[in-house]
Amino acid sequence: MATIRLIGLPTDANSSFLRGPAKAPPKIRELLFSDMGNAATESGAELGREIQLEDAGDLPLNGNTDDDAKIETAVAAALAAGCVPLLMGGDHAITYPVLKTIAAHYGPVEILHVDAHPDLYDELLGNRRSHASPFARIMEHGLARRLVQVGVRTLNSHQREQAVRFGVEIVPMRNFSADKVPQLHGPLYISIDLDGLDPAHAPGVSHHEPGGLSVREVMDILARIDAQVVGGDVVEYNPDRDIHDMTAAVAAKFVKEIAALASVTR
Ligand code: MN
Ligand code: MN
Repeated sequence: MATIRLIGLPTDANSSFLRGPAKAPPKIRELLFSDMGNAATESGAELGREIQLEDAGDLPLNGNTDDDAKIETAVAAALAAGCVPLLMGGDHAITYPVLKTIAAHYGPVEILHVDAHPDLYDELLGNRRSHASPFARIMEHGLARRLVQVGVRTLNSHQREQAVRFGVEIVPMRNFSADKVPQLHGPLYISIDLDGLDPAHAPGVSHHEPGGLSVREVMDILARIDAQVVGGDVVEYNPDRDIHDMTAAVAAKFVKEIAALASVTR
């Protein structure tokens, strides 16, 4: 049974529209360990029993160019210790340095990516490290042998071309059901951008994109996974936009459920 190492990445330096996700990790952690709920996941495995979760705290990120090196060092340290890195964003730009480190350890991985957006822009507003671009960088550098995207409902012509170029598999939101998500194989990385959910389920995000997934549908997608999970992230929580911490609770639930999946050796 692998130990899960929780690492907070408080940065929104590469956000394109609103700031706020830098404030996310402490809020998600607060809900994760809140007396509001208990330690059980839906499989029955519990934090502190079947799930060994250690909290490495938040990295001191400051929006400077050495942030990526700090992220890579922390993820590499987790892997060297035999832990599964589980990242709390921060905006989605963090996934590129994380995947660089994961792929250096395991080779190219399969990725399940939940998001309203494909995040495949070559650049956005002149920024190639934009939170709208991480999966372009990941695919260019050969860090994933397979990228499956769920929740995407903003595919413009540029990103459609990029998806074809990189062989990205996008499960359409029209007529969506969890059984349409292809079966994935390990080593598997799970990246959940909370705006993949409908804003009614997760209002605490910078980009409200109606017509998204329910919490239940994401849970159904996760429940079908039987691959070895080697890492994951929950990103784009924006506390400034939240209502009564309800999106923080969703983020905490996904952290817990990814931890449960990654705890199982397959
Ligand atoms: Mn995203
Ligand atoms: Mn998004």
